[in-house]
Amino acid sequence: MAQATSPPNTSESNPYLQMRARLDLASKLLQLDPGVYDILSTPFQELTVSVPVKMDNGSLRVFTGYRVQHSIARGPAKGGIRYSPEVSLDEVRALSAWMTWKCAVVNVPFGGGKGGIICDPRRMSQGELERMTRRYTANILDIIGPERDVPAPDMNTGERTMAWLMDTYSMHTRATTTAIVTGKPVGLGGSLGRREATGLGVAFTAREALKHLGMPDQGCSVVVQGSGNVGGLAAQFLHEMGHKIVAMSDMYGGIHCEAGLDIPAVLQWLKDKGRLEGFPGSIAVENAALLTLPCDVLVPAATENQITSTNAEDIKAKVIVEGANGPTSAAADAILERRGVFVAPDILANAGGVTVSYFEWVQNRMGYFWEKQDVFDRMERIMVDSFRDVVQAAEKYQTSARIAAYCLSVERVAYCLTMRGIYA
Ligand code: GLU
Repeated sequence: MAQATSPPNTSESNPYLQMRARLDLASKLLQLDPGVYDILSTPFQELTVSVPVKMDNGSLRVFTGYRVQHSIARGPAKGGIRYSPEVSLDEVRALSAWMTWKCAVVNVPFGGGKGGIICDPRRMSQGELERMTRRYTANILDIIGPERDVPAPDMNTGERTMAWLMDTYSMHTRATTTAIVTGKPVGLGGSLGRREATGLGVAFTAREALKHLGMPDQGCSVVVQGSGNVGGLAAQFLHEMGHKIVAMSDMYGGIHCEAGLDIPAVLQWLKDKGRLEGFPGSIAVENAALLTLPCDVLVPAATENQITSTNAEDIKAKVIVEGANGPTSAAADAILERRGVFVAPDILANAGGVTVSYFEWVQNRMGYFWEKQDVFDRMERIMVDSFRDVVQAAEKYQTSARIAAYCLSVERVAYCLTMRGIYA
């Protein structure tokens, strides 16, 4: 997770309203039926659970958890679970809707869901995290399942969390059910390549965006906000493609080196020291300054609402490739579009993760596992085709890549809703 600026509490900082603003624009362009719009702008199902946990010191604490299923029109709900003090119902609602659009953009047969628990995982022991995860799983058990809703990792959760969730579900159902979650450890039914998938998908999208804009396929300067599973791996793959990563950040701050950072060494440093700060040959840079550094490509891969009406005018990048979900506000979209900045939107750019989650779910259900290169090749094909579909939709509707991606996905979800009809 990267250091993040705390936005003021305005509608610009409410992720659900930001999602709705884009849905509204796409719905107008598509001349969407008002009834279908009403369905798509409201989550299908929301569950709030209180999660009592025996803490290590013997005290009892009650955490609040959510699981929101925005849509199941195209298939089971799909989406991660995040642990953070910043989790709120509106954030989980927005993230679940973004999963619906994301799965539809890359055409994987899932709806959208998301979960979260309000907690500070850095201040909790492994045992406390395990008990919290298991009780949360038990509390949402009735609405999840391989054919209902398939969770995955997100901020501050990972393969360990997924293993606990899978075990808890399997103990309740009396059957080992690997397909209940994706992002599991590889030795426990996880897919090869899932760990790298989101970062690699971001790098593929950056490559396609540069090609689309006629920019060089090597030697571009890149700023990455974040250094976790998305930012760290996106930096690594872009570095391997021959680009120059000039700055990166983590939750404590950023590092900058105009000549380009040695990314494998940076990632090793981060692993050893637990923070980027002090990386030899780099200078420290604050999060706000990092976003407005001169560069060709900016990859926000931290959290929501980082590029807003307050800093969009100052962004120097020519291309933004959104590794995070919702890093740009709707007001910032308009500013960036006017300034000619090309934005590869989150629901396209970071969809490599859920694409390989789909492959994991398929492999679990067929009981046969694929080679890593096969996983990467299939994911690359989907990312390249989806980028092309979005660019074509942008031409068709004379709109930005973001709104084009919404148009494409809203159309696909609306089609399923209409074909299924209304059960009454
Ligand atoms: N949490 C990831 C996302 O936001 C992955 C979700 C999944 O694989 O289901 O896309």
